[in-house]
Amino acid sequence: MTVIEEIHIPGFEKVIEAKNPSLGLHAFIALHNTTLGPALGGTRIYSYPTKEAALTDVLRLAQGMTYKSALTKVGFGGGKAVIIGDHKKIKSQEFLFAYADVINSLGGNYITAEDIGTTTDDVAIMRQRTPYVVGLPFGQGLGSGDPSPFTAWGVYRGIQAVAAFLFGSPSLAGKKIAIQGIGKVGKPLAEFLFWNGAKLVVADMDPAALTQVSKLYGAEIVPPSEIHKVPCDIFAPCAMGGILNDVTIPEMQCKAVAGSANNQLLSEHHADVMKKHGILYAPDYVINAGGLINVCHELLPGGYDATSSRILTDKIEDSLLKLFQKAEEDNLTPSQEAINLAHLYLDQKIGKREIPLRLAL
Ligand code: NAD
Repeated sequence: MTVIEEIHIPGFEKVIEAKNPSLGLHAFIALHNTTLGPALGGTRIYSYPTKEAALTDVLRLAQGMTYKSALTKVGFGGGKAVIIGDHKKIKSQEFLFAYADVINSLGGNYITAEDIGTTTDDVAIMRQRTPYVVGLPFGQGLGSGDPSPFTAWGVYRGIQAVAAFLFGSPSLAGKKIAIQGIGKVGKPLAEFLFWNGAKLVVADMDPAALTQVSKLYGAEIVPPSEIHKVPCDIFAPCAMGGILNDVTIPEMQCKAVAGSANNQLLSEHHADVMKKHGILYAPDYVINAGGLINVCHELLPGGYDATSSRILTDKIEDSLLKLFQKAEEDNLTPSQEAINLAHLYLDQKIGKREIPLRLAL
């Protein structure tokens, strides 16, 4: 039996902890803000060292989703879920059904999707038990497939905005870009950058992924511990969060950081540390919104439309360029500028969901 308990966390609408020891299920779900629509955010399965670490992660990720949804005006709020454990060992149909029941207990205020440790196939299994999921496999019901290529395309357009702001042109020809993490986002990002003339340096823990990008895109390989130190134009973190911290920032030799990883700043004040070191930072919840945009397109009244999703993802370049310009005018970090804008949208209910969700298959 799954036991669900509510935890009171100031600033969050609802946070729950769900446990089913016989299935190895231990989850936290955080609903940060539903002013603009139901909270949307993926489910991460990860071997957190402690339950406190899992709770801290879900809270920061849920808040980031509020900003991401508000700034992209998709008519959703911010939420996230984390499950403690090794995704290669704990998942089964029974486990995913029990977790889907936990999502149902939130009555449609939280809609989930895949994230690190979960896949579109897991979402399809959960869909048998709950309608409150998006990011289904392509061709299944409303399915739009893996959102990662859209995330990668949005990051690519964001990197163009960085180039336009710093170097006066969005061209990436000859620019040196270091990518940390050649996974579902990092790999297509490497491909887009290669075909547009960038020189690549990459790091990952997975030797097979590295060999492939090195052969396909002429990428130089460095050890994971070195990638943030590489002298380059742009560093693109596409692995785990917290990479921008007191140790790594002084070691960086890039002009900008622009990548897909969520929660890149270990804490918000590291945005100021980046500014002091003269490194431009593209806020993660702005540049990595392509995946969110794509899964939201499953729920349009007319059904999934890849072209419309790409057009909205393309706008990340313009939004980010305007954000950098406004932050410079206001002498703020791009992060603070983005947070201020998100709060304005939330206060004035700009982008609030008007059309009811179309969840039935
Ligand atoms: P993924 O698990 O497919 O890829 C991550 C890659 O990073 C893996 O290949 C892993 O081996 C590597 N890695 C882990 N730690 C590393 C380290 N210390 N140094 C170098 N490489 C390391 O994940 P993904 O879907 O590509 O997502 C990457 C990041 O982007 C995550 O932070 C995720 O939350 C974020 N994100 C992803 C999407 C999406 O659509 N997939 C959307 C928004 C944000």
